[in-house]
Amino acid sequence: MQGKIALEEHFALEDTLSDLERRLSDNGDWADTRRRLLDIQKLRLEEMDRNGIEMVILSHTAPGIQELLDTGEAVDLSQRANDLLAEEIARHPDRFAGFAALPMQDPEAAIIELTRCIKDLGFKGALVNGFTQKDVPDSVIFYDIPEYRPFWAVLNEFDLPFYMHPRTSIATRSQHYEGHPWLFSSAWGFSVEASIHSLRLIGSGLFEELPKLQIVLGHLGERIPFDMWRLDHRIERQPCGYSLPQPMSYYLRNNFHLTTSGNFYEPVFNFTLAEMGVDRLMFSVDYPYEDMIEGAAWFDQLEMAKETRQKVGRTNAVDLFKLNLT
Ligand code: ZN
Repeated sequence: MQGKIALEEHFALEDTLSDLERRLSDNGDWADTRRRLLDIQKLRLEEMDRNGIEMVILSHTAPGIQELLDTGEAVDLSQRANDLLAEEIARHPDRFAGFAALPMQDPEAAIIELTRCIKDLGFKGALVNGFTQKDVPDSVIFYDIPEYRPFWAVLNEFDLPFYMHPRTSIATRSQHYEGHPWLFSSAWGFSVEASIHSLRLIGSGLFEELPKLQIVLGHLGERIPFDMWRLDHRIERQPCGYSLPQPMSYYLRNNFHLTTSGNFYEPVFNFTLAEMGVDRLMFSVDYPYEDMIEGAAWFDQLEMAKETRQKVGRTNAVDLFKLNLT
């Protein structure tokens, strides 16, 4: 399919690579990943051309801003990452768009940067790498707490989505992963973090307060679609403090959109499509951690109606992010 749009596609600043380097440098392909994270206009564009991807919405890679303990540093790095991204987009505005990186360490600063990114830089929403740390290394702050309500209200006013990207959890708080680093990694732990954070947002009543607010989850929903029925079923039997007027699945189907990033498996795609509906699924790759050729070729050979492919591959993203494309 020509004209695809992908929206979980990452870049990095040279000076934010050190932590990733520590974690990933023993992976055989780190040198290539590093090169591709730093590149926007050459390798990336060539691969987009080769794979029928017309536009990507770029975001700063994980854990990025969210692992910084110093709020001032988080504000500074967010601004630098967003300014660099805006410059790169300006070189090819027909091929690139941007998500704001945000200093969630300070909800007020996050509102200021979000507003700047959307109003001044023309970004299409925000992508945040899960919970934020702040001040001390084993801090974990989720955004369902009251301090973040003004942030969500501002995003809601802009009528643009929030991409909840996963990150690895904090080792000192994750004894259940001890001795199994692979379990801690993107193979499993990523989805655990992103799904729990999303369910916390729902459970806090955020979407009762702001029913228009939209969250995007990658990796075909971080395993949530498989458990939607069971979430409703068990909460109905045993609410354990869940007191919202609607079941979980209602908020998932009205306030969440899912992407195919890094989960190129047809049975899961078909199941997710059936659970969420054709309006709430979008194509993505997760480049450069995933192979653009593999993700695009997989999507292009999936069996589905022409209108479904057009919506998932392109027009759902055009509508949700208000992209200036026909
Ligand atoms: Zn990603």
